[in-house]
Amino acid sequence: MQPKKNHYKVVILGTGPAGLTAAIYTSRAMLEPLLVEGPSPGGLLMLTTDVENYPGFRDGIMGPDLMMATKEQAERFGTEVLLATCEKVDLSQRPLRLWLDGHEVTADTLIAATGAEARWLDLESEQHYRRIGGGVSACAVCDGAFFRDVPVAVVGGGDSAMEEAHFLTKFASQVYIIHRRDTLRASRIMQERALKNPKIKFIWDTAVEEVLGDGKVVQGLRLKNLKTQEESTLEVGALFLAIGHIPNTQVFAGQLDLDPDGYIVTPKSSMSTNVPGVFAAGDVQDTDYKQAITAAASGCMAAMDAEEYLESLEA
Ligand SMILES: Cc1cc2nc3c(=O)[nH]c(=O)nc-3n(C[C@H](O)[C@H](O)[C@H](O)COP(=O)(O)OP(=O)(O)OC[C@H]3O[C@@H](n4cnc5c(N)ncnc54)[C@H](O)[C@@H]3O)c2cc1C
Repeated sequence: MQPKKNHYKVVILGTGPAGLTAAIYTSRAMLEPLLVEGPSPGGLLMLTTDVENYPGFRDGIMGPDLMMATKEQAERFGTEVLLATCEKVDLSQRPLRLWLDGHEVTADTLIAATGAEARWLDLESEQHYRRIGGGVSACAVCDGAFFRDVPVAVVGGGDSAMEEAHFLTKFASQVYIIHRRDTLRASRIMQERALKNPKIKFIWDTAVEEVLGDGKVVQGLRLKNLKTQEESTLEVGALFLAIGHIPNTQVFAGQLDLDPDGYIVTPKSSMSTNVPGVFAAGDVQDTDYKQAITAAASGCMAAMDAEEYLESLEA
């Protein structure tokens, strides 16, 4: 696909909740944005089934249905949607320059909403149960409530693993934290909270070798103790990965300020970046919340910031 114009007031990269919301706001403001879908049109919610915590849907909504409806809402106000990936940017010049599947466009403002991918163990069985929503997830807040009164496992040893495990104790009968080492990376306070919780049990020096199940739902894990090489099985109804995320910021490296983990740095009170006219929204700049509603909210903020920036250019 080719962009219809050579120059845009606003280009938005990403069609997850952040990019789509930025498109709704900027198109309603008559800025005729170009919205670039990237390698995963619709973003991460296309990978899930029921979304039960997005406001406005009493009985929940399927992830792909929510994203399709949001895209149609953005198109209704004149957003141009382009099925392409941004492979290069030059943010050192005005207007900004972007290459989208080989086509160069220029822009007055750019909203980066390229998201972040969860790190996985890269086991075939893990990916199978993840794809079919059978009990492998990288988001306890999103999926924890589906696993009530069954034992579940969390993999990881940092703050997010402790937090996810603690959250899961609300629903699960037992939460196992499986960690490759015998010490945790998590902050002291988070460690103590998890270690004191009677519903949380630690399995140290251990790796998940295989996710076991009937092909439809997770029923257990095959584990290996990395010190003794001993194998064992653990009965659980779900596996939650909490081993970090990889923000999709490779294309901005060397041009936008990134934190040590690769997230775009934005100040607390706005979605601006170190480059005037470039804004970031959603998981690509969010090290803490990573929810559809927070991504959508920051997409709205980035759109309003971009609009204000464009007005300042005209003043
Ligand atoms: C399995 C699963 C279930 C979840 N369930 C829930 C839930 O129930 N409730 C909830 O609130 N949250 C849930 N989440 C989290 C939620 O999906 C994310 O927080 C949200 O999607 C982040 O939105 P985003 O717009 O920042 O990024 P994403 O949704 O990740 O979208 C990123 C977009 O950027 C595009 N992109 C990437 N690189 C480029 C590039 N170079 N050029 C152009 N475009 C690019 C991609 O194609 C994609 O369209 C879930 C996540 C997962 C993985």
